[in-house]
Amino acid sequence: MDQRYDCLVIGAGMAGAVAARELAERGGKRVLVLERRDHVGGNAYDCFDKAGVLIHQYGPHIFHTNNKRVFDYLSRFTAWRNYQHKVVANIPDGEGRLEMPVPFNLISLRAAFPREQAEALEEKLLAAYGPERKVTILELRENEDPTIRALADYVYDHVFVRYTMKQWGQKPEEIDPATTARVPVFLSEDCRYFQDEHQGMPLEGYTPMFQRLLDHPDITVETGVDAVARMELGENGILLDGAPFDGLVIYTGAADELFGCKYGRLPYRTLDFAFETYPVDFWQSHGTVNYTVDQDYTRITEFKHLTGQELPGVTTVMKEYSRAYTGEPGEIPYYAIINGENNALYARYQAEAGRYANLHLLGRLAEYKYYNMDAIAARALELCDELLK
Ligand code: FAD
Ligand code: UDP
Repeated sequence: MDQRYDCLVIGAGMAGAVAARELAERGGKRVLVLERRDHVGGNAYDCFDKAGVLIHQYGPHIFHTNNKRVFDYLSRFTAWRNYQHKVVANIPDGEGRLEMPVPFNLISLRAAFPREQAEALEEKLLAAYGPERKVTILELRENEDPTIRALADYVYDHVFVRYTMKQWGQKPEEIDPATTARVPVFLSEDCRYFQDEHQGMPLEGYTPMFQRLLDHPDITVETGVDAVARMELGENGILLDGAPFDGLVIYTGAADELFGCKYGRLPYRTLDFAFETYPVDFWQSHGTVNYTVDQDYTRITEFKHLTGQELPGVTTVMKEYSRAYTGEPGEIPYYAIINGENNALYARYQAEAGRYANLHLLGRLAEYKYYNMDAIAARALELCDELLK
């Protein structure tokens, strides 16, 4: 790092890219972005595979938000394909298999139960909660009415318990309630996965959107660089390549790695992805199919449904397998495991970071939170509002 730069941004995902753009464009700062991977975009990165299919290398990403500022901001860097994500649970049903909408809704109810029973249940649910209401599975299981509780048990057994065991290695009632609350029971016929006002996919993909975000005369991006290996957080401040750096530093990597994991590793879940290409137009009925009762993988995503790519006779799907993150080289920490103990460990790293007035932790990893892309963009904009005041 030399004195050509006013700010250092570590990581070129949503957090780093939006922050870098704001600092350069609104703040007039000269920004250096260091990214460990050989590309920008973080986990939202997409690319074409060998078959020519546009895939999401690190898991399926669908943009959705109610935050107008974020939507308008990102819309400067991409046009959108209107895509309303729909997910079904694929479960064994007698000799065959049944597909029913997730979140479990009134259409799922009718698919799961004989007509008269479904009608009676629907009436009870609507009387108890009202139409278009979202009720978490944990809340539903506490209903006083035994008929509603029996339905809750059905949904728990057929949608939540095994999927959650695969994803987290724990039962729904053992994990942060906000996690299962992301996928409530929805007393509606709306089969979309998200109800946000704005949703869709960047028309040409995520990577071009990130490239445009970072395309500014005052932003320099270096990829394939591990910034932590070049930094030292000493008693008297931050050193970069051995020289003091007192400009702004925005760090979007894992908080524990910044301090050599000196208090122990922050627990995460990682994912293994299995990509499969088939010589057909489409391989499954929906963009994402969740396997909520059997299989080792949690879900299968078929990218052409999401991206709308027109490519006859070939398609790529991806299976997701979740397991504990160990920190082995090449493993990526995808999901923070939010609980009291882990939050307390995170707080120790946060306090360490707090000793440096010019250092800011930003993003899903650095803040140890379960953020969607829009929340990260919002956090980056808000942090820059503060910093550029
Ligand atoms: P990241 O994208 O993780 O970016 C951090 C970057 O920092 C990485 O590129 C990393 O390589 C780099 N970095 C880390 N350490 C260093 C270092 N020492 N030196 C240099 N660089 C470093 N959100 C949605 O809104 N919709 C979805 O459909 C959706 N689907 C998802 C599916 C999966 C499987 C996962 C895991 C997440 C999903 N998300 C989704 C969440 C989304 O990925 C995040 O909100 C977003 O990517 C967070 O951006 P970020 O910049 O905080 O982190
Ligand atoms: N979940 C579930 N069954 C499903 C879908 C979700 O049990 O069919 C639970 C599971 O615990 C999951 C959480 O709800 O981790 C949040 O799901 P979401 O689809 O939001 O997860 P993400 O897309 O972030 O992996």
